[in-house]
Amino acid sequence: MYKISLITGDGIGPEISESAISVLNTINDKFDLKFEITKLSAGDKALKDTGKALPDETISVIKQSDACLKAPVGESAADVIVVLRRMLDLYANIRPAKSYPHMPALRDDIDMVIVRENTEDLYTGKEFRVGDSAVALRIISKAASKRIAKYAFETAKQRNSKKKVTCVHKSNVMKITDGLFAKACTDVSKDYPEITFEEMYVDACAMNLIRQPQEFDVVVTTNLFGDILSDESSQVVGGLGMAPAANIGDSFALFEPVHGAAFDIAGQNIANPSSFLLSIKMMFDWLGAKHNDSKCFEVGRKLESTIFDLVKSGVKTKDIGGDMSTTEFTKQIVDNL
Ligand code: ATP
Repeated sequence: MYKISLITGDGIGPEISESAISVLNTINDKFDLKFEITKLSAGDKALKDTGKALPDETISVIKQSDACLKAPVGESAADVIVVLRRMLDLYANIRPAKSYPHMPALRDDIDMVIVRENTEDLYTGKEFRVGDSAVALRIISKAASKRIAKYAFETAKQRNSKKKVTCVHKSNVMKITDGLFAKACTDVSKDYPEITFEEMYVDACAMNLIRQPQEFDVVVTTNLFGDILSDESSQVVGGLGMAPAANIGDSFALFEPVHGAAFDIAGQNIANPSSFLLSIKMMFDWLGAKHNDSKCFEVGRKLESTIFDLVKSGVKTKDIGGDMSTTEFTKQIVDNL
């Protein structure tokens, strides 16, 4: 039995959380794999109700669980996810972008993953005013840069892909901070002679993601660049509705969709739950590796193929060219599992 904590979030969060619960309950019923789900509050609604965007009770339940699922939260996102990433030392943010058949991708041969450093950069919240100016501190440490570089090379080693790591930075402008990041990645690359290593400026990377996305394998980058580039890479393979993400540390992990709370479509029952469900697939893989549990891998593969078989047969939500509602699409997944 795995204990799963679930932050249901804001905007479309509660709708896609219901979809996630239906799928996990179906897995409980139909497979030899059991999950106990605890719903938790965090985000804008929690702030309004309790005065805290990340209530203490939520933190304590997360810490007692085997893994955390997090639906998107609204304006208070930085007070929830950025805090959790740092508190739980979830230093690697993994955002895959792969073209699947019958998805509106730019090309059909894209298969890449963005490995984003998750604990530093401009996301440490060290901002202040000096006179009429505003200042933000960009913190990049050698230890964190080497740690994420190693994670990226290990990822490239395990993937059946191009065995390439692209280190993305802007060291021609931010000579000290990105200079340190680039050097840390270059140093780590020497331990992996079998992996091709290249460096790319972030502006060139943004362009190449459109021009030749099929050339990328593993991209390793700092926190802010990773945030921006992963929204772009998800669009390149068909949109935010299909983009999963994992926040991984040495002993705990949290899984969430790349997209935000999407208030513009909240409450309309049209959100695509796939990004969240594919994040759950990433959770199965992580639990499987951690607990040496092959059943987790099997169920993960089954969930992924069920989603993509449906998409292939034209059963899709509106964002990717279909007409299914969130609940109808979820029911199809549950039935096909
Ligand atoms: P954040 O800054 O919190 O990441 P954002 O401003 O980038 O959020 P999102 O909430 O990610 O915005 O949504 C961007 C666009 O993508 C919106 O138009 C939204 O409707 C659409 N979108 C996002 N997620 C989904 C989804 N699961 N299904 C359908 N459309 C989505």
